[in-house]
Amino acid sequence: NGHSPNAWEGSRVMIVGSMGFIGGFIAEASLECGHPTYLLIRPELASLSKASTIKSLQDRGATTIYGSIKDQDLMEKVIREHKIEIVISAVGGASIADQVKLVNAIKAAGTVKRFLPSEFGHDIDRADPVEPGLTMYKEKRQVRRYIEEAGIPYTYICCNSIAAWPYHDNTHPADVPPPLDRFQIYGDGTVKAYFVAGSDIGKFTIKSIDDNRTLNKTVHFRPPSNLLSTNELASLWEEKLGYKLPRVTITEDDLLAAAREMRIPQSIVAAITHDIFINSCQTNYSMDQPNDVDVCSLYPELPFRTVDECFNDFAVKMISNPKLVNKPANKNGTMMPNPKPEALFI
Ligand code: NDP
Repeated sequence: NGHSPNAWEGSRVMIVGSMGFIGGFIAEASLECGHPTYLLIRPELASLSKASTIKSLQDRGATTIYGSIKDQDLMEKVIREHKIEIVISAVGGASIADQVKLVNAIKAAGTVKRFLPSEFGHDIDRADPVEPGLTMYKEKRQVRRYIEEAGIPYTYICCNSIAAWPYHDNTHPADVPPPLDRFQIYGDGTVKAYFVAGSDIGKFTIKSIDDNRTLNKTVHFRPPSNLLSTNELASLWEEKLGYKLPRVTITEDDLLAAAREMRIPQSIVAAITHDIFINSCQTNYSMDQPNDVDVCSLYPELPFRTVDECFNDFAVKMISNPKLVNKPANKNGTMMPNPKPEALFI
């Protein structure tokens, strides 16, 4: 895959969840860095789109392994056989608790120098969302305690929000462009959050895996340039569109009501959205614990992609694929104008 035989070999990385939203970015970054990369893929539900994703990752040097983290014996065998040194899990919300079996397998195999459990959000020991967000956080907390008790070397990645419009009912907001009909502004729209590009979540996660400074640490992604309020995010998108959109307030009570509906996963997202934009959970603490590390201080020479760049990407995608423009629900049935190419600052 373009690396000479004498080049840096990199640690042997196994990624769980590479067909998912966050795991996809991590698999890309691991291959990009030249790590020998093993992808654990669930054999069931193999779809055509999954097959083509697998093929393209294999073409770039990834080795695929079929199985589930629920199969502890298989996990132990696979980790030992391939001498896996780093395990990164990006399993989704429904599979958080199953990681206990993966921890058992890691412990038994004895080759793993670092485990990154499925975190990729807030510092779940600090943040305290309402239900049903809390149940997921409790599961993530239990996994942390289990890892620590097992004595497995770990890194917890707290990358905050993905750079996209923070829809309160969508677990993968970066898959859809920001609004074209109206902005739903949470509360007064002034609370800020860190919006990090998916590719940077992958890149900085992979940077951290064999860095001694991140051993048994919580790594916080808090790039000052990516700290924006929803009001600022809306204005930025309006700049790209070249026109203004109406703003509708979503109150604290609206978010709590959406959380209380207990629709999974939408209500989990509503609960976490409430925690971010009403409780300020990404900014209401200082990194004062001995296990806190700021990714920006680790790699000051490496810039983060800005939200402006990410929004340019959305605008370009919409211009090249006008179907996307007409997709968002427009309650009035009116067609929205296309973004103006000349308004794009690319
Ligand atoms: P997805 O649901 O998109 O993907 C999960 C992946 O894990 C899938 O590929 C799935 O396989 C795989 N998986 C699930 N169970 C197993 C198992 N038993 N064995 C092997 N593989 C399994 O997850 P997300 O990317 O949404 O979530 C990953 C993490 O990131 C979570 O902790 C979540 O809370 C967090 N997150 C953070 C966001 C942010 O903005 N900061 C946004 C979204 C998530 P299959 O393809 O077979 O289903």
